[in-house]
Amino acid sequence: MKASVEQQLLAVELAKLDQEFNQYSSQAKHHPKREVIIKITDEIEKLESEIIALTAQAGDIKKDSSKLEDEIEQVRARAEKDQSRIDSASNAKEITAMEHEIESLKNRQNDLENQELVLLEQIEGLDKKRNAFEQQKLKFTVELEQATGELKADLNALKLKADQVNQDRQVLATKIEAELMQKYQKIRSEHQGLAAARLLNSACSGCNISFSPIEVQEIKSNDIELIMLCDNCSCILVRA
Ligand SMILES: [Zn+2]
Repeated sequence: MKASVEQQLLAVELAKLDQEFNQYSSQAKHHPKREVIIKITDEIEKLESEIIALTAQAGDIKKDSSKLEDEIEQVRARAEKDQSRIDSASNAKEITAMEHEIESLKNRQNDLENQELVLLEQIEGLDKKRNAFEQQKLKFTVELEQATGELKADLNALKLKADQVNQDRQVLATKIEAELMQKYQKIRSEHQGLAAARLLNSACSGCNISFSPIEVQEIKSNDIELIMLCDNCSCILVRA
């Protein structure tokens, strides 16, 4: 097929706009902030499960500690009761037995209090760890908000640029003859990269592959209006 040089150059302009549009789409799709957001979200999720686990662990120990607290209270009440019985008792044998019991109750209370102390220390350690994770989570949450905001702003800016290119493309497309447009669209759908490019300094500016002087001579020997394709990238090779 044939097309005027003017028409062929319009196709080259169209290809530049299509390339620009693709670049914006690709920049939006592969924006580095997307990776950052995935990583931060991942970190936050990990911290959240750590926090849940630590809270559950501390909760179990708190239950045990509260059971000990009840037991201590019972032992203390029993000792007090024994003490008041001693105060009102007159039987020496009974008093001695009571004193022994009070002694063993005191030992029991000591033992239970030591056990409780160990649990309280464990709870304190878990709480400290959980607070540190909460702080980290807060830091990541701020980072996530920032990254999400930045990505959103960048995507909006890219969309504005892409919309503008799209508008320009629509205007330009109306100026290109139907047959050439059809050819262009077919090449565009079948190949990556530019669908039309100029031959500059003996190289196709679509794929930047240089032709030998003989090849250039042969290409240029054809009618300039004849639609020729680059052997390498299959774009419409415009010799003007
Ligand atoms: Zn090429």
